[in-house]
Amino acid sequence: MNSLADIAAALKRAEGALICGHVMPDGDSLGSVLALGLTLESMGKKVTMAGPDPPPEIYDFLPGLDKYRVGLPPDVEFDTLIILDCSVPERLGRGFQELLSGEMEIIILDHHTGSSCFGKYRYIDPAAAAVGEIIYDLIIEMGLEINRDVAVCLYTAIITDTGSFQYDSTTPGTLRRVANLMEIGVPAAQINVRIYEEKPKAFFQLLCMALSTLTTSSCGKISWMTVTRETIKNSGAMDEHTEGLVNYAKSIRGVEVGMLFREIKEGSYKISFRSKDVVDVNKLAALFGGGGHPHASGSTVQGDLNEIIERVVSAALLAVRGIGQ
Ligand code: 5GP
Ligand code: MN
Repeated sequence: MNSLADIAAALKRAEGALICGHVMPDGDSLGSVLALGLTLESMGKKVTMAGPDPPPEIYDFLPGLDKYRVGLPPDVEFDTLIILDCSVPERLGRGFQELLSGEMEIIILDHHTGSSCFGKYRYIDPAAAAVGEIIYDLIIEMGLEINRDVAVCLYTAIITDTGSFQYDSTTPGTLRRVANLMEIGVPAAQINVRIYEEKPKAFFQLLCMALSTLTTSSCGKISWMTVTRETIKNSGAMDEHTEGLVNYAKSIRGVEVGMLFREIKEGSYKISFRSKDVVDVNKLAALFGGGGHPHASGSTVQGDLNEIIERVVSAALLAVRGIGQ
C-alpha cells in the first residue's frame, strides 16, 4: 500500500488521466470521480471521466457530470488510469476491466475491507466513510484548494455513502470534512432535497409493489423483498429507483439482516445485503461471489429466484446465529 503522498506525486506526474468508478455508479463513485477529475483538470491535465453505466438521474445536478462519458471513448488518450471505489476488477465493468492489462500507471483509491490487490499504486482505507473522504484528503495533500464545484461532488459522495451520517462509518473526521465543505459553500439542504425528496411518482408505485413482497423469517431477524423485471415494468419506474429499497427490509424492529433480490436481467439477480449490528454482510455476500462493507454489501447470482432466496436466507440465518461466517 502507498501513502497519500505517493499517490499525490504519481498524480502530479500524470499528463493524461482516465478516471473511472464502478458499474451502476452510486453517489460516492460519481462524486469522487468528478471531484478528482475537476481537480486534475484545474491542474491543466487532460482528463477523461467515464464508466460503463449511465449515472442515475438524481445526480444530474453534480458539477462536471456533462463531461462524464458512458462507455470507453474510442479516442481516449491517457498515461494514468485511476480507479475509485472499486474493490474487485470485475466491478469496473465491461470495456474498462480489460484496461488493467495495459502499460499505463494504475492508481487504486478505495475504502472496502479486503479490497483485492490490483494496480501499481494503491491507497485503501476501510476506515474512510466514503472514497470522497480520501479524495478530500488527497486534494489537501497536493496542496490545492477545494473549490465549490469539487466541494459539492465530495459532499454528495460522503452523504450518500454514510446514509446521511447514519451509519457507523461516520466519524468525527467525516463531520469535520463536511463542515469544511459547507464553509466552502456547499448548499447541503438543497442537495439533500435533490437526492432524497425529488422522486418520481413511479418510485412510490415501485415501493408499494416491493413492500407487498416483504417477508420476515420466523425468528424475526431476517427480512427480504423482491423486485422482478415485471415489477419494474408495471410500476413505470427505472432500475435506479430501487436504490435504498433494501433499507425498508432492514428497518423493521428486531431485524438484523435486510435483503433485496432484484432481477437485473432475465434470470440474473442482484442481491443487496444490509445489517444493523453483529452480522458481517461483507462475508455473507462473499459466499455468493460478492462483497462490500460489514453493514452493506451486494452480489449478483444467476438462477431461479425461489431457489436463490432459499439458499441466501439459509446462509443469513446461519450468520445471525453466529455460525457460518
Ligand atoms: P448496493 O446494495 O447498494 O448495490 O451495494 C452495497 C455495497 O456492496 C456497494 O457499495 C459495494 O461496496 C458492494 N457491492 C455491491 N454489489 C457488489 C458486487 O457485485 N460485488 C462486490 N464485490 N461488491 C458489491
Ligand atoms: Mn463507496
